[in-house]
Amino acid sequence: MKILAVNAGSSSLKFQLLVMPEEKEIVSGQVERIGWDDAIITFKLNGEKIKETFQILNHKYAVELVIQGLLKHKAIESLEEIKGVGHRVVQGGEIFKTSVIITDEVVEQIRSLNDLAPLHNPANITGIEAFRKALPNIPQVAVFDTTFHQTMTEDAYLYAAPYEWYEKYHVRKYGFHGTSHQFVSERCAEILGKKEHKIIVAHLGNGASICAVKNGKSVDTSMGLTPLEGIPMGTRSGNIDPAVLMLIAGKEDKTIGEVIDDLNKKSGYLGVSGFSNDSRDIIDGMNRGDYRATLAHKIQVKRILDYIGSYYVYMGGLDAICFTAGIGENAPEIRRDVIKGMEVLGVKLDEVENEKRGERMISTKDSKVKAFIIPTNEEVMLARETVRLSK
Ligand code: ADP
Repeated sequence: MKILAVNAGSSSLKFQLLVMPEEKEIVSGQVERIGWDDAIITFKLNGEKIKETFQILNHKYAVELVIQGLLKHKAIESLEEIKGVGHRVVQGGEIFKTSVIITDEVVEQIRSLNDLAPLHNPANITGIEAFRKALPNIPQVAVFDTTFHQTMTEDAYLYAAPYEWYEKYHVRKYGFHGTSHQFVSERCAEILGKKEHKIIVAHLGNGASICAVKNGKSVDTSMGLTPLEGIPMGTRSGNIDPAVLMLIAGKEDKTIGEVIDDLNKKSGYLGVSGFSNDSRDIIDGMNRGDYRATLAHKIQVKRILDYIGSYYVYMGGLDAICFTAGIGENAPEIRRDVIKGMEVLGVKLDEVENEKRGERMISTKDSKVKAFIIPTNEEVMLARETVRLSK
C-alpha cells in the first residue's frame, strides 16, 4: 500500500511516498519558494536528485506538479495506487487528542486554532485543501505535533499566570515535535524491552525540544504555547525573562512583535555566536577557539541539562536518554558534553560508539542509565497513522 506523507509550510511543501506496512521510502522531495516565479521542485528517487524550476504561484499548483512528477518519474503508475495522504499539522490545541480523518468539520476546527499557531496552521490547511481537491476519493489524515503531549497533566501544562487566560484564550503549554518524540520513545522502549519505562528524548534540530516519556506517555516537554519556549535553538532563544521584551522594545524603538521576531530569528546559536545558526559552524568555531561559539555551545549544554535534571526528578528516575534529529544524530560533541553532565545520574559514555552514526547505544554496558542515538522519522509516523485510520 502506498501512502503519501505531506508537510506543508507557508512557502514550501515537503512530501514522501512510502510503501506500508514495510515503511520503505519510494520517493521524497519538496517544493520551495511557492508564490514565486522561480519555485524549485525536487524529487529524490533511486539515489538520484532531480531539480526543476517553475513559476508556482500557489499550493494548488504545487500539489498538481508533485502528483504529475510522481507519475512522470514512475514512482506510481496511476493515482489509484495512493491509498491515503497523511498531513502534518502543527497545532491541534485541546481539540485533537489523536490523529483524525480529515472532513470539512476537521478543517474548520484546525482553522479555529490559527490564533495559537499563526505561522503554521494556515499553511498546513492550504496543503490539506490542495490535496483534498487533487485526490478527492482517498482518506486524508491529520497528524498533529501536539497530540502526543496531550497526556501532560495540569501541573505540567499550565502557566502560573491568571487562570482566566487559560479559560478564555487557551493559554497553556502544548509542546511540539510530538510525532518525533513518540517515534523515538517507542523505539527506545522496544530496545529496552520494557513497557514500564522512564525515557527522555532530546530532539535537537534547527528547532529543538526535550520530552519526558513515562510508560509511553509524554508527561512534560520543553516547548510551550509556541515553539519559542524551552531550550535555545538555531535561531530561537528558548526561555527568557519576559521583562526583556519591554526593555528591548524601549531601547531599540521596536514593537513587542518585532522583539519576539528577534527571539525567534536572531537568537539561540546565531544570537550568541554572532555568526551562525548551524551546529557544524558552532563546533568548528569552538575547535578553533572562538570565544562566542564556545559560549553558545556551553549555554546549549547547560540548558539541555537543566531540563534533564528537572525531568529526572519529575519522573522519579530515568532508564534512558535518546538523541535525535539533525544535531542529536550528527553532532558527537553535543551528545558527549550532555552525557558527561549527566554522570551524576548514572550514565557512562562509550566514547567510541558516540563517534559513530545511526541507531546505537552510546553508553557503556555497565551504565545504569542507557544512552542512545535513535534517528527520527516523522514521515513514517504520518504514514503509520494514515494506515491505522484508513482501515
Ligand atoms: P529541522 O527539521 O528542525 O529544520 P534538522 O533536524 O534537519 O532541523 O536539523 C538541522 C540542523 O542539524 C542543522 O542546522 C545543523 O545544525 C545540524 N546538523 C546537520 N548535520 C550535521 C552534522 N553532520 N554535524 C553537526 N550538526 C549537523
